[in-house]
Amino acid sequence: MCKLDPYINVDPGTMNPGEHGEVFVTEDGGETDLDLGHYERFIDENLNRNSNTTTGSIYSSVIEKERRGDYLGRTVQVIPHVTDEIKGRIRRLASDDIDVVIVEIGGTVGDIEIVPFVEAIRQFRRDVGRDNVCYVHLTLVPYLAPSGEQKTKPTQHSVTELRSRGIQPDVIVCRSDRFIEEDMKRKISLLCDVPIEGVVSAVDAASIYEIPRVLLEEGLDTYVCEILKIDLNDHPVDLSQWLSVIESVENATKPVKIGIVGKYVDMSDAYLSVVEATRHAGFFHGAKVSFVWIDAEMVPSEISERDFAELDGMIIPGGFGERGIEGMISAAQIARTIGLPTLGICLGLQVMSIEYARHAAGLEGANSREFNSTAPHLVIDLMDDQVGVVNKGGTMRLGAYPAMLTEDSQVAEIYGATVVSERHRHRYEFNPRYRARIEEAGLACSGNSPDGRLVEFIELPGHPFWVGTQAHPEFKSRPERPHPLFRELLTASLERAEGRAPHLIDPQSIDH
Ligand code: GLN
Repeated sequence: MCKLDPYINVDPGTMNPGEHGEVFVTEDGGETDLDLGHYERFIDENLNRNSNTTTGSIYSSVIEKERRGDYLGRTVQVIPHVTDEIKGRIRRLASDDIDVVIVEIGGTVGDIEIVPFVEAIRQFRRDVGRDNVCYVHLTLVPYLAPSGEQKTKPTQHSVTELRSRGIQPDVIVCRSDRFIEEDMKRKISLLCDVPIEGVVSAVDAASIYEIPRVLLEEGLDTYVCEILKIDLNDHPVDLSQWLSVIESVENATKPVKIGIVGKYVDMSDAYLSVVEATRHAGFFHGAKVSFVWIDAEMVPSEISERDFAELDGMIIPGGFGERGIEGMISAAQIARTIGLPTLGICLGLQVMSIEYARHAAGLEGANSREFNSTAPHLVIDLMDDQVGVVNKGGTMRLGAYPAMLTEDSQVAEIYGATVVSERHRHRYEFNPRYRARIEEAGLACSGNSPDGRLVEFIELPGHPFWVGTQAHPEFKSRPERPHPLFRELLTASLERAEGRAPHLIDPQSIDH
């Protein structure tokens, strides 16, 4: 899978999640578009940084090559140098074990920035042969309520625009809020010169997980394979595993209320993988999660202990910058004292540690260097390797790192293992100088880097579920295999919802 993004940032790592949505992190530490998260969750394969290419990364390698003299004597131009670089990025994914590369171009045909990408994929068909490329064009078919009709005009216009760039689509996938009937498909087929089997209705589904079934029923798989001359007799479509995911989505009915305390709560895509991972845990338990979005800046002035008491569980997700931090610290304090099951992710672990340092370990004014560098106790601080780092792009602790979990700890029990690996994306760490003091006060640093220097997991013995991780476990959750931390957050939350006493379930009894 490959996502081509026409923006000029080298990667989305420097963009505001409140505008662009979450930054998805791959095992190898790529900071990528959130669509890669969807790809991983749908195809159940780990991708790597090469699966996401932006205009910025294309230009930066073209310019680097130019400076090195690779194009010596020539004028460097969009065609062929930039388009060659784009095609090279697609080709490098085609290792020996890959049969088909699926490339998604972000944005809309007609955007200024998209032109080199569309030109590159136009050339691609000529380079690799007609039968080796299938162009799938996604359009919108709006429904006009007053006149009660669906409109094909936007589809016609975008196909015209695409053709003006030299691409005739093989398939048109029509997004719509209601099914596209046969006569409408016939009209699109005629006007856009695509066989009727190539006009596919992608109607809004109850959940994103139903989309593969919707598209299968529309015959998209079969038609694309026909275009690519892939013999379906050799490769029958088998969605049985996926259909059981859909079944578990449909059976998820027990209500459970999970609060998410953050500062990008107006834009739920900012926490996309966290939301999906929580839903996956819900599928496992047959529970339908309703999310309560809590703007950290409103805590505790407008959102107080009473509101938290109505939740069944809480997540403090990742984030950057000072805004909302004091509210998150208050939320953590409330959750700790009222026994609300809470999972802290990355910034969440840092906030829980600061809260505990201040209110339980007597370290008044404890803070992170990120929010107040002159605080009396920097319980979260930069490690030596981050001191003096000036560039903001790609310089954090990124990608998969192992952690050793303390025998018999809650996290070891949850994972059913003492050596685990999770993806990271942060600059600050739990300050080892405060570790003894905070542990004496009762917080357990139950997971550490193999050299013992970095705290990776914290937990609070005696609390139903008060677990923090410096990593981002949400990136590894899959619909058929929820991540253990989310799974157990929901175990505790459901117990709270159902008024039962908290206990841990035996990880051995779970197939994951
Ligand atoms: N801002 C914090 C840091 O850089 C946490 C980052 C995060 O939550 N991903 O360490």
